[in-house]
Amino acid sequence: MANDDCLFCKILAGDIPADVIYESDTAIAFRDINPQAPTHVLIIPRKHIATINDIGEDDQAIVGSLYSAARTIAAEEGFSEEGYRAVMNCNEGAGQTVFHIHLHLLGGRPFSWPPG
Ligand code: AMP
Ligand code: ZN
Repeated sequence: MANDDCLFCKILAGDIPADVIYESDTAIAFRDINPQAPTHVLIIPRKHIATINDIGEDDQAIVGSLYSAARTIAAEEGFSEEGYRAVMNCNEGAGQTVFHIHLHLLGGRPFSWPPG
């Protein structure tokens, strides 16, 4: 199921180090190497899914678990009430650079809308 060419599969395998702050049966989360907010965490499924377009009907519980992780981490980081951003980019046109889906969880500062 892992993709040999995938950076995040290598993090999941422990071949590349990451600051992992959350683990469940279906997902892990680690701090982004180039944070865009005081807290910037990437929440990824253990299953290699390249883009949102590749999410299958059978993956719905997995994808839901990414949001459960976001809720839990937001509470731990202390910004559940003030607000935060949880966003997933799809394909190059939206800025996706790593083709293993990941929910960006950003918190600790105000966010404007629309995003760039
Ligand atoms: P995206 O542009 O939506 O595909 O997001 C990819 C994210 O992965 C970017 O925010 C990068 O800063 C982050 N990133 C790339 N390599 C690593 C790494 N080795 N550890 C943690 N975050 C990374
Ligand atoms: Zn992968």
